Amino acid sequence: MPASLDTFTCRLLRARHATQVAGLDALLVTPGPDLRYLLGVAGESHERLTCLVLPADGDPALVVPALERPGLDGTPVLGLGLEIADWPDGDDPYALVAGLLGKSGSPPAWVAVADAMPAAHVLALRDALPGCAQTLASAVLAPLRIRKDSAEIAALVAAGQAIDRVHARMGEWLRVGRTEAQVGADVAAAIVTEGHTAAAFVIVGSGPHAASPHHDVSDRVVRPGDVVVVDIGGPTPEGYFSDCTRTYSLGEPAETDVAECYAVLQAAQDAAVAAVAPGTTAQQVDAAARGPITAVGLGERFIHRTGHGIGLEVHEQPYIVAGNDLALEAGMAFSIEPGIYLPGRWGARIEDIVVVNDSGATRLNHRPRELAILPV
Ligand code: ZN
Ligand code: ZN
Ligand code: ZN
Repeated sequence: MPASLDTFTCRLLRARHATQVAGLDALLVTPGPDLRYLLGVAGESHERLTCLVLPADGDPALVVPALERPGLDGTPVLGLGLEIADWPDGDDPYALVAGLLGKSGSPPAWVAVADAMPAAHVLALRDALPGCAQTLASAVLAPLRIRKDSAEIAALVAAGQAIDRVHARMGEWLRVGRTEAQVGADVAAAIVTEGHTAAAFVIVGSGPHAASPHHDVSDRVVRPGDVVVVDIGGPTPEGYFSDCTRTYSLGEPAETDVAECYAVLQAAQDAAVAAVAPGTTAQQVDAAARGPITAVGLGERFIHRTGHGIGLEVHEQPYIVAGNDLALEAGMAFSIEPGIYLPGRWGARIEDIVVVNDSGATRLNHRPRELAILPV
């Protein structure tokens, strides 16, 4: 269910209001997740400037290269009544932005730029707006994006179902005698087949590689008794990401302490999900995941935060980490992904996406969380 024109109109109004409240003169947003959130426009920033200019007092405008103007046909942008300020090659788009911002009479003193804006644009805008300080747009936009509306939650639910279907088929590809890279290529293709527009990441960490949380794939051949961490995800057509980890074993694990440690990991993941509720802080959820693992002396082997927010980016706010005293609210979506990593031997992780509901958490991933033993 794509977001409607009303949704984007509402988001633009809320973003402008937040810009005013922050005391900023304007928000400058280049292509990326923020622009997709505000206007429904996908794509990346190039060397030619595309930029939403959202003044705190005044009407928004979209600066766009003339050759990309036809590409806006059929997008929500044309229905939003924005001024489209196109510029031909050879013109100065930064001067165009300065002109749009100067319409009200006084030049801007403080603007927020999209966090992912390329430095080339940031510095050129700085030069075009002398005396104007810059800050990050996340100060204004993250509080809006962090709470998902019903259409966004529906998109995340669909993403979760799509990646669950890929994990359900893992036995087709993850077999003894194949390399991690061969397995990963098949998984990547299935990520697309099952409803994503791309495979954003495919981690197949077998044997000792499972002890490296962000391992990619390699030419290592999967062997009987290997424990294998498979962490996969990608964006759906609406732009919302899946991200789900399951840990597999090719037959019974060769290492003797796997069953015992894995049971602790599963308890940790359950404890963290159970801790999620409106008003609970992000760091309390992190602590809940750490408790059972620390209790058996493996705290040092859980070497990353418990989770990250997810939406139009794979990693976004809220971060579920010690020191983050943000109180959770209904509509926030994030991963719960504790892991145990024993260097040189094996590792395991269990990752689900959850959405905060009125009293707790709704899991968006539903594959069994036990160690999945595949036939050898
Ligand atoms: Zn990760
Ligand atoms: Zn993941
Ligand atoms: Zn994750």
